[in-house]
This record gives sequence, C-alpha cells and structure tokens, in this order.
Amino acid sequence: MSFDSLGLSAEILRAVEEQGYRDPTPIQQQAIPVVLAGRDLMACAQTGTGKTAGFTLPLLQILDSQKAAPRSGRRPVRALILTPTRELAAQIGENVRDYSKHLNMRSLVVFGGVSINPQMLKLRGGVDVLVATPGRLLDLEHQRAVDLSTVEILVLDEADRMLDMGFIHDIRRVLSKLPAKRQNLMFSATFSDDIKALASKMLVNPAYVEAAKRNTPSELVDQSVHFVDRKRKRELLSQMIGEGQWQQVLVFTRTKHGANHLAEQLNKDGITASAIHGNKSQGARTRALDEFKNGKIRVLVATDIAARGLDIDHLPHVVNFELPNVPEDYVHRIGRTGRAECTGEAISLVCVDEHKLLRDIERLLKFEIKRIALPGYEPDPSIKAEPIVNGRQSGGRQGQGGRPAQGGRQNAGAPRSSSGAQNAGRSEGSPWGNKGGKSSDSRGAGNGAPRSSKPRSENGSSQKRATYSGSRRSNTTGE
Ligand code: AMP
Repeated sequence: MSFDSLGLSAEILRAVEEQGYRDPTPIQQQAIPVVLAGRDLMACAQTGTGKTAGFTLPLLQILDSQKAAPRSGRRPVRALILTPTRELAAQIGENVRDYSKHLNMRSLVVFGGVSINPQMLKLRGGVDVLVATPGRLLDLEHQRAVDLSTVEILVLDEADRMLDMGFIHDIRRVLSKLPAKRQNLMFSATFSDDIKALASKMLVNPAYVEAAKRNTPSELVDQSVHFVDRKRKRELLSQMIGEGQWQQVLVFTRTKHGANHLAEQLNKDGITASAIHGNKSQGARTRALDEFKNGKIRVLVATDIAARGLDIDHLPHVVNFELPNVPEDYVHRIGRTGRAECTGEAISLVCVDEHKLLRDIERLLKFEIKRIALPGYEPDPSIKAEPIVNGRQSGGRQGQGGRPAQGGRQNAGAPRSSSGAQNAGRSEGSPWGNKGGKSSDSRGAGNGAPRSSKPRSENGSSQKRATYSGSRRSNTTGE
C-alpha cells in the first residue's frame, strides 16, 4: 500500500515524501482512514511503529480541509495532543512541523521545566495544533493563556504512560475543559483495564486498531546477558565500549544518581558521556541529547522516564547497566535499538542482586536471553545478593513534564499498577514495509527507583583484559 491511496492531500503527501517515507506503516495504514473518516480511535501501538504520523497526518488534513469556525480574537486551538513527557512533546512537535510545512498551520509545543512566559506569548499569537504535557497545559489554562473550548480533535498519546505517571487527574481536568463534541484519538502501548476504563469514558464508538503483537522485542535486536559483579560493571562497560569501538551507546540505570555517577566515571575513563534524567534542566537534557545524536558524546546514560521519547536514528547499542524493576521496561529499553530494519545490540549487565529481575524479564519474554561470559569478569561466588530497594524519590514526576503526582506512580521502581503492567512492549519485527525513509526511533518507559547501592567503588582492577568483539550481530532473540 502506498501513501497515495490513503486519501491524504497533495501538500501532506509532499511533506511525507520529503521525510523520506515511502510506504505507510501498518498502524498508519489502519489509523489514517479511520481518523480521516472523523471517527474516534483507540490504537494499540508502541513507539517505533510510526504512530505519530498515524494520527498527525490525518489530523492536519482534517484541520486544513475544514475552516475554523469564525471567532473574534486569537486563532483557536483546534487540535490538542497530550503527551506524558517533554521529550515526547518536543518530538511530536517536530513531526507536526515537518508534516505541516506545506500547509498554513501554526503549531506549538508547551511543557514544564521551562519559562511559561514565551509559551503564553506564542499562544497569544494563535495556534492551530497544540502539543502539551498535562501539567503545563493546565497551568496555562489556569492563567487563561489558552482556551480549550475550541478543540476539535484530541489526541492522548502514550496513554498508558500517562496513567503510570499519575496524570489521570490532570487528564480528567483537561477533558472537562474541552467541548463535548470532538474527535478523540487514544494511543497506548498496552490495553490494560485502566486504559479500557479511560477509553470508555473518553471515546465514542471508537474504531480499534492494533499495530503489532505486544511484549515482543524486535527480532532485529541481539540480546545478551553478562553476569558480572556489581562493582565491576563500570569497568566491563568501559571495556566493551572501548574495545568494541562503540560510538553511540544508550545506557540505562535505575536511578538519577546512578546515571550521574556512571556518566562521571565514564568521562574519567576517557569515554565521553552525559546523563539525562528528570532532575536535569530542560536545557541540559536537550543539549545532552543533541550531543549524543550528533556524535559529540558516545554515551548517554538515562533513566527510563528520561529516555522515553528519545528518537535516535540507527541506535546500535543499548546497555542495561542495571536491570529495570519492571520487566516491561526491559522491552521498552531494548526497543531503542534494532529499529526499522537496522540490527542492534542490547546487553544487560546483571549482578547477583538482579537474578530475580532477570527471571521476571525472561518470563515475560518467554525465552532465556543468551548468556555471554567474558573471561576475567566471572562473578565472585562469595558475593551475596543485596536487596534492591524500591524506594520512592520525593518530587514525584517533576521534571518529566508534569506536576507532582497525586496518588499516581512517581516512578517505576515501585510495582506497577495494572495499567501498563501486562503488555508494554515493542512491535514485533520492523513495522516498515520498506527500507526507505527515516528509520529509527526511540522511546522509553518508567523511571527507576533508587536502589540501595552506595556509589560504586571501582576495584580498579586491570586484570586479564578480555577481548570484546563489538560486532556481534548474529540474531538470537531466543526461541
Ligand atoms: P513513531 O512511532 O511515531 O515515534 O515513529 C518512529 C520513527 O519512524 C520516526 O523517526 C518517524 O520519523 C519514522 N517514520 C514514521 N512513519 C514512517 C514511514 N512510513 N516510513 C519510514 N519511517 C517512518
């Protein structure tokens, strides 16, 4: 199927072509006609499936083909796209700009963590498509900087994450500000009971589309587990990066502190690295991401929530420096690589504390991840497991684009609520029908809780240096 057959306008098709997309992805094939027909939509689709264009392209077309109701004053907000995180908001905003470049359409992205005044100023100029995180949107609404009563189309993106992050009250408040008559599009990687409940309140006679099987990591990702003592993880990581000559590695830690500490240590090892997490200013996060994308730094160390929304083309290596507490987050994490027909490598460094987490992950995957033992890094059997504390950090999800959670999950260190528990995963295989076009994307998942470990003291051992081949590419997703 080609884009031409989906009923999109020439201007939009031109923009799509300029993005290098040749064929619509399965979710685009299913969602675009439904949205163009004006129906509400419930789409089960993970990031990486092309879902953003799946809702943005028809939304733009509808807005472009129907004139806004004449109103005095500023240009009304006609489409509202709600997202859980700043990064995701920024990326969707970029997509909206790209796809609408040949249309007379104004779009704006608003999220917290940056000054509200420029956003108010821009809103005063009039905006057709507003991409927002819920907390900042409500602040703007409260200050009467935005009028939501004119919204014709509402998109709730990554709805499962929104619920996980405790945004349900904010979402309800936003919904109460919208006109009753509108088109609603809801996207979620999972279809839990909480999501169903929200969908039944929000959607009217929706069409249901699903992109791919859930909880199935891409077959293009070569997954492996290295058992290693907790205090030797950093040394092993530095060696793998150095000897494998990896130039772009996304590394996950469970905590913000752990991310900072690891980035510092890698820099000391001569490997350029930055940390990205919710305590960093938006400027620092954007800078780190830009430097990682353009190759100025080799390693980006991230917590799960901070990594959510990262869109990095052809990311070749993902390392779980610490396993996530929630097995579904493993699938999200490794979904950053092996995208769009590019192979990728996902390596987990697993210490004795994490054996149970690994078992949980493998139960979810339904296969055992390949084990790799590097000579010189064999775990010391005398080291006993230490508990991983599921502590909660104060401050809620501030810094992730929202306001402090009200009873919601503040980070994913804690056991997950039913929403998002079962099915968070990535699409199976590549969603693309071709090799053309832009490829990869990345989005992450819930943040990690602080663990009990003290800052890692390195043993500085320079024992036998195992040779690490950085070009392992055989595909072993198990089964
Ligand atoms: P998404 O799942 O919306 O986050 O999109 C993932 C990535 O796929 C982004 O980098 C998009 O630019 C890209 N993309 C979206 N649609 C297509 C398509 N039809 N062909 C190739 N790449 C696409």
